[in-house]
Amino acid sequence: MENRIWLKQSDMPTQWYNVIPDLPGPPAPVLHPATLQPVTPGDLTPLFPMALIEQEVSGERWIKIPDEVMKIYSIWRPTPLVRAVRLEKLLDTPAHIYYKNESVSPAGSHKPNTSVPQAYYNKKEGINKLVTETGAGQWGSALAMACNFFGIDLQVFMVKVSYHQKPYRRSLMEIWGAKVFASPSDQTNYGRELLKKDPDNPGSLGIAISEAVEKAATDPDAHYALGSVLNHVCMHQTILGLEAKKQMEIAGEYPDVVIGCVGGGSNFSGLAFPFVPDKAAGKKVRLLGIEPASCPTLTKGPYTFDYGDTARMAPVVKMYTLGHDFVPPGIHAGGLRYHGDAPLLCQLVNAGVIEARAYPQLTCFEAALMFARSEGIIPAPETSHAIRGAIDEALDAKKRNEKRVILFNFSGHGHFDMSAYDDYLSGKLTDFAYPEAKIKAALANLPEVKL
Ligand SMILES: *Cc1c(COP(=O)(O)O)cnc(C)c1O
Repeated sequence: MENRIWLKQSDMPTQWYNVIPDLPGPPAPVLHPATLQPVTPGDLTPLFPMALIEQEVSGERWIKIPDEVMKIYSIWRPTPLVRAVRLEKLLDTPAHIYYKNESVSPAGSHKPNTSVPQAYYNKKEGINKLVTETGAGQWGSALAMACNFFGIDLQVFMVKVSYHQKPYRRSLMEIWGAKVFASPSDQTNYGRELLKKDPDNPGSLGIAISEAVEKAATDPDAHYALGSVLNHVCMHQTILGLEAKKQMEIAGEYPDVVIGCVGGGSNFSGLAFPFVPDKAAGKKVRLLGIEPASCPTLTKGPYTFDYGDTARMAPVVKMYTLGHDFVPPGIHAGGLRYHGDAPLLCQLVNAGVIEARAYPQLTCFEAALMFARSEGIIPAPETSHAIRGAIDEALDAKKRNEKRVILFNFSGHGHFDMSAYDDYLSGKLTDFAYPEAKIKAALANLPEVKL
């Protein structure tokens, strides 16, 4: 039996898949944060290149991947699809478990799938300076690598707690030539305002986004880049789902359930969206997103319009949200701590096409260790949520004594997350109670949208 399913470079997909024409209804409009009226492309041109603004609203089902992007993808793509036979044995399950291994990219996660095209389209439109934010540092490092390839200067606002807790991700960004600031910083009006109130503000992803958007919007030479949530980001990630579909076909199987962890929703969307048309055509495939119980956007948030960032500078979108000023507890899966989720993913969850489940962190670390000890690879704490989901599906199949084909996305490795593993191994890691009061307070501040 082949347990490692390769795809030849010549068989790599040459187009991304855009789910918009296959949605159950038209997507909700994106609103301007000041007027709460639909944005025009002109509102977005200070932040994004035209090519990405067009992709954001495109009705085309297939979009060609530029040759220069394909060339860089080919450094690590196609990524392997692996059948986790040793994990299956450990669980003693009749289920077949496959994982798409996105940890083999130079930055160690799926994120370069979008950082490379984003840097490419900016460069093509004459932009030589990008600004972004990063939580745990995965997006910052992926974009730093891409900017380095295309000769673009990059400034990164990194959430302050991570800046101090994860110094090696900062080194990674600096190796690839980026300038990194701990956020809140003294580089922006918003950051200075927050520091005046509390010099020890630990920062959050929402705050870092506000700083990066402010910096990009006030510098006529700079653009902004986002590593998740937006439609074009989810579309770029479909490269991994399209490859996985081809590889499953080579393996002679079709998944009963497709699983991914959800932070802003991009890696799961990348794997799941290519299965949406199959499902609409009557195929029995479940699409299951897993989020942390301490930031339970899809499972506990209302589906409504909210700001994308804390300072209300980013567009207002319709999504499941915990409120733009909700700051989740400091779980180790830093990449899963966003208050909202990708609008396209949210629309599909709301329509019942995609399911969601939430897990606390201890059970995810337990799953991560089972995976590391059976399959060898050490998962990122974010990825451990998808693994927990896959293991529970495999155990459920065992209980019912049914063969179930499980496909999940191995979004990244955990080589820079050793402090989290140290805490887990020494028993210092705890679960957080569901932050009900904090979520309730944040939900009181939703924008009043009248369309
Ligand atoms: C950023 C990140 C995530 C979460 O982001 P999504 O946009 O939801 O994919 C998950 N896993 C890893 C390894 C990441 O770096």
